[in-house]
Amino acid sequence: MKFDYLVVGAGLFGAVFAHEAKKCGKSVLVIDKRPNVGGNVYTECVEGINVHKYGAHIFHTNDKRIWEFVNAFAVFNRYTNSPVANYCGELYSLPFNMYTFNKMWGVVTPEEAEAKISEQREAAGIKEPKNLEEQAISLVGRDIYEKLIKGYTEKQWGRDCKDLPAFIIKRLPVRLTFDNNYFNALYQGIPVGGYTKMVEKMLSGIEVRLNCDYLENKHGLDALAEKTVYTGPVDAYFGYKLGTLEYRSVRFENEVLDKPNFQGNAVVNYTDRETPFTRIIEHKWFEFGTQPKTVISREYSSEWKPGDEPYYPVNDDKNGQLYAQYKSLAQKEKNVIFGGRLGEYKYYDMDAVIASALDLCGKELG
Ligand code: UDP
Repeated sequence: MKFDYLVVGAGLFGAVFAHEAKKCGKSVLVIDKRPNVGGNVYTECVEGINVHKYGAHIFHTNDKRIWEFVNAFAVFNRYTNSPVANYCGELYSLPFNMYTFNKMWGVVTPEEAEAKISEQREAAGIKEPKNLEEQAISLVGRDIYEKLIKGYTEKQWGRDCKDLPAFIIKRLPVRLTFDNNYFNALYQGIPVGGYTKMVEKMLSGIEVRLNCDYLENKHGLDALAEKTVYTGPVDAYFGYKLGTLEYRSVRFENEVLDKPNFQGNAVVNYTDRETPFTRIIEHKWFEFGTQPKTVISREYSSEWKPGDEPYYPVNDDKNGQLYAQYKSLAQKEKNVIFGGRLGEYKYYDMDAVIASALDLCGKELG
């Protein structure tokens, strides 16, 4: 055995684990089937702009330990996420806050906004929200649900809001203040120079083999190390023998435009049902770019099928039950630890995935 650990996947979970393991004197080999490290936080420089190739990632956390951890690998800028919603050409502030309520209803005070939301909640007669639609209407009323949530969510998840779990919408804050900050987090920012550099720094001094597909040579690769930390899809590991877990995938249509400013904001969500994409990301604004050109990505959400990139786990009952079966197989797997968004089939934010990798380090490395 050459290595103590084989880490499959050079995304955040794998890179954090590998870094900590090396720090504890363990020998580590990291492999990834892609030609680059970073997993889905990978950023690629185009026209001097760091393009978030696998979807926009905005780092935010309430956990000081995690904030200090990432700051050891990158300097974070003061980017604050304030997406704009475009509903058939009408613009609204996100998350739902006094600017949104003022634009929607002309209300000026928090009391007026609250009264409007209560009136719409009561008209809908929802006592205990059972699904995303009911949860959304109880939180912000029917008008906002219809214009800013329904279309976006049904495009994003490819499912009716009545068939989606309520917790998805609870990610979004609702505020009776004039505050367009999307996150309720104490710490927020984008690593200056891009996420790839940050992950490269985590992996410095560690052997990394790229373009290396674990599942194509599982036995040979496992034989290189005492233990394997696997961060790929849990169902793929088991050859999909119990069936496939569902994911939402995203297709990015990237365009370089010969102008310095396309939409004046990093994130614009298209919340109507008719626009086929969910949002447009203008990458330069994550880093206050001054480049003469701009790069935009239109995001088209689709049902995942084999061969696509899996992005969002679909956390409904059916998939939850299937995952529970895979999880019990995973627990029986000797010398293999499953972790991360794909390994645990969990809609993790970046800070949560880092926390989960550090927890594993605590258990595994002592
Ligand atoms: N959402 C919405 N309208 C928006 C933005 C978000 O209805 O303009 C809902 C949608 O259901 C989405 C959920 O809120 O899936 C969580 O959004 P978030 O921005 O956290 O998703 P992510 O950034 O992870 O894609």
